[in-house]
Amino acid sequence: MSTGTGELEGAVAIVTGGSRGIGRAIAEALAEGGARVAVIARNAEGAAAAAAELPGEGHLGIGCDVSDGEAVVAMVRRVDEELGPVGILVNNAGITRDNLLLRMKEEDWDAVLDVNLKAAFHTVKAVTKGMMRRRDGVILNVTSVVGLMGNAGQANYAASKAGLVGLTKSVARELAPRGIRCNAVAPGYIRTDMTADLGDAQTEALQSGIPLQRLGDPEDIAGVVRFLAGPSARYITGQVLAVDGGMVM
Ligand code: NAP
Repeated sequence: MSTGTGELEGAVAIVTGGSRGIGRAIAEALAEGGARVAVIARNAEGAAAAAAELPGEGHLGIGCDVSDGEAVVAMVRRVDEELGPVGILVNNAGITRDNLLLRMKEEDWDAVLDVNLKAAFHTVKAVTKGMMRRRDGVILNVTSVVGLMGNAGQANYAASKAGLVGLTKSVARELAPRGIRCNAVAPGYIRTDMTADLGDAQTEALQSGIPLQRLGDPEDIAGVVRFLAGPSARYITGQVLAVDGGMVM
């Protein structure tokens, strides 16, 4: 429960894709830090249910497809009206449409780029005017080690995540003079719905390439996001932090 003394007390946070998996753990961690959190997902009921279970009070669940620019503007306006000005934006919503490049359909390329990359363009634009006015704000993008290393069968996903790295560094440079920080977290393989299809053999093969010898849990990412969102990270911007058990070093 929020104690009224957390380092994020008084802050309003948006977590896209906050209804499940990593996003849900991030929403929980920020709420534990004292933030009031707007949980965003396409499925409005899923978003509302996740928001209702967060520690503390004053959270909100909103159904919104973040690849739709107009819907994002309306969503941010609603958060502003119901919770207050947004101080923390976490771009976490993401999808996969895996296939070998030669078999990949253009619509699968576009869908992944729209949700994983273009959505961050929409959300960052929608929150930054207010942040600039207040000269205060934190933007966190959830990319992936796949965006740093590439991955056979994931050209669309890897390109979207590498794009997020470029976006993160550009936004960090552009908005640092306005008091806004922007960083990215690059998870390795984390146990969520997205990785639920991995068989035992695949999991074992993956684990053998992870120095810490296990897949990650959503909470492994959430704690790092909470740190980057808070005052202890006030001198960190433009960074991509791999949280991957040592896969990339
Ligand atoms: P997940 O369990 O599949 O959850 C995805 C979340 O995003 C759900 O809340 C989903 O809710 C929401 N979402 C999907 N499309 C959306 C859209 N168009 N608009 C709004 N919300 C949308 O995924 P996860 O594994 O937690 O992954 C979270 C993030 O971490 C993603 O960006 C992913 O690429 C990244 N990541 C994951 C791993 C991993 O191993 N799991 C590794 C590296 C990076 P709805 O379905 O209701 O929209």
